[in-house]
Amino acid sequence: MFNLILFGPPGSGKGTQSERLVEKYGVVHLSTGNLLRAEIAQKTPLGLEAKSFIDKGQLVPDEVVIGMVDSYFDLHKDARGFLFDGFPRTVAQAKALDRLLELKKTAISSVLALEVNEEELVKRLLNRGKTSGRSDDTDESVIRKRFSVYTEETSPVAEHYRKARKFHPIAGEGSVDAIFDRLCDTIEKQLKKESGH
Ligand code: ADP
Repeated sequence: MFNLILFGPPGSGKGTQSERLVEKYGVVHLSTGNLLRAEIAQKTPLGLEAKSFIDKGQLVPDEVVIGMVDSYFDLHKDARGFLFDGFPRTVAQAKALDRLLELKKTAISSVLALEVNEEELVKRLLNRGKTSGRSDDTDESVIRKRFSVYTEETSPVAEHYRKARKFHPIAGEGSVDAIFDRLCDTIEKQLKKESGH
């Protein structure tokens, strides 16, 4: 299997780039944000619980998210790999993911981390909020809260993968095409390495 993590703050372009990456590499897209929004739309108990956290800009509890990822694996037993988007967002989630992948006799190949400055991120999110219908994108104070949660709880995940020598920073500003090319270059290098060339 070939498993990638697309990492980066809210608004860094993970969703946009994920769509292209799954198409090019034939891996299964696993976006915990999308899965949570689907639960909310269907008004499931999990969705109702998640909504109260998301609307405040907080993270959904680890056990809820990890359980959801575990069920998603069961639905995609034949996947040739996964692209994780918006997950893991805490060190506990990263460790749980390591264990789940180990059970499947696989591991993360690369973490691709999109880097974008904060003022650009706020602009992108407020812009997205005008059309996306996402309540967490319309209120600047909720957006700022998500950044502080990112700094405190999610940035330590980078260190987890840096230690494992899997962490690759990618400049996330410029055109969508240019960023996609940078991501693909890094992935190609990793694929070559794994095939022993
Ligand atoms: P963005 O990265 O643009 O903020 P996402 O769609 O990835 O958007 O996530 C939206 C919200 O869903 C997050 O602010 C958080 O509340 C919740 N969420 C998504 N993924 C996770 C996760 N792995 N752990 C905890 N909460 C999550």
